[in-house]
Amino acid sequence: MAGVVIDGGEKLYSDLVILAEGSSAFLTEKAGLRGKLEANSFTLYVKEVISLPRGVIEDRFNLEKEEGSIIGIIGYPASGAIGKGGIWVNRDTISIVVGGYLNQLVDKGLSPYHLLTRFKQHPLIQRLLEGGKVEEYQAHTIPKGGYKNIPKLNDYGLLVAGDAAMMISGRRGTDLAMITGKYAGETASQAWAKGDFSPEILSAYQTRIKNSFFMEDIKKGKNTQKYFQEYSDADFLITKTLNNIAREYFKVELTSENEKREKILKDIKIIQPFFKTINDFYHGFNNWGVL
Ligand SMILES: Cc1cc2nc3c(=O)[nH]c(=O)nc-3n(C[C@H](O)[C@H](O)[C@H](O)COP(=O)(O)OP(=O)(O)OC[C@H]3O[C@@H](n4cnc5c(N)ncnc54)[C@H](O)[C@@H]3O)c2cc1C
Repeated sequence: MAGVVIDGGEKLYSDLVILAEGSSAFLTEKAGLRGKLEANSFTLYVKEVISLPRGVIEDRFNLEKEEGSIIGIIGYPASGAIGKGGIWVNRDTISIVVGGYLNQLVDKGLSPYHLLTRFKQHPLIQRLLEGGKVEEYQAHTIPKGGYKNIPKLNDYGLLVAGDAAMMISGRRGTDLAMITGKYAGETASQAWAKGDFSPEILSAYQTRIKNSFFMEDIKKGKNTQKYFQEYSDADFLITKTLNNIAREYFKVELTSENEKREKILKDIKIIQPFFKTINDFYHGFNNWGVL
């Protein structure tokens, strides 16, 4: 018989517990299903929710009624760490999000709150938020340990789902949490029907996840995490290169298109060895879930 101890010490017994406790996964760790994770297995994001009248939001973001918008920004917001920023436009609030790999924030001495303040004070962002009132401040980690850190997914009377099970791939997390939650529920029904909650029956859950469409992507991402730990400057160099290309491309000068292309190529080669740039882009696109 499994079960949980809830607030106040009351014990609830059951045949099966599904752990869906999010990225920190202390219970998963305590149950011995995974080891202690390092800071480089997480990203940390902070968010402020800022309210503004709906009409002002529609004008500033060029929205129709009931429309929302998501703007992702790489480069400036994470201040050299591998991470990003975002503006999520809701009905009558705007969420400002920024963060990056936890170990890099620590190593570079970057405080998430300062990153957020710096991001909000950028002239292009400031004008979007002007007159807004801060309603909430939140912080959340995302498990980025990838394939190698997926815990044991089932044990006696236990299944692990969602972030606690490291079910993150590129930009996908919410849907994988729901899908693994559904698989866990279906496995529980199967065990209930058979009246057998042994690890053999519960292993059907693990098999389903291993054969799922998303496991292939999670496996593909494992080299990306390793690459970014080795080349922590990769994100910075990608965004610098992209900015340089865009600036040169759109600059109006008295040069031919050919001369322009040659200059852009020369600039790219100056930043770092060309193949490193190609590699950085490949892993960057993988990390952003584009490839
Ligand atoms: C900034 C940010 C941006 C994101 N963007 C995207 C995106 O664009 N697309 C996407 O798909 N995903 C995204 N995600 C990831 C997504 O939010 C998560 O993958 C998803 O919420 C995981 O769901 P979960 O139920 O596993 O965990 P959670 O949503 O973290 O829920 C776990 C719950 O368990 C509770 N809990 C923990 N321990 C205990 C305990 N001992 N007892 C009782 N309750 C407990 C927690 O309080 C929490 O409510 C993003 C996450 C962040 C932080």
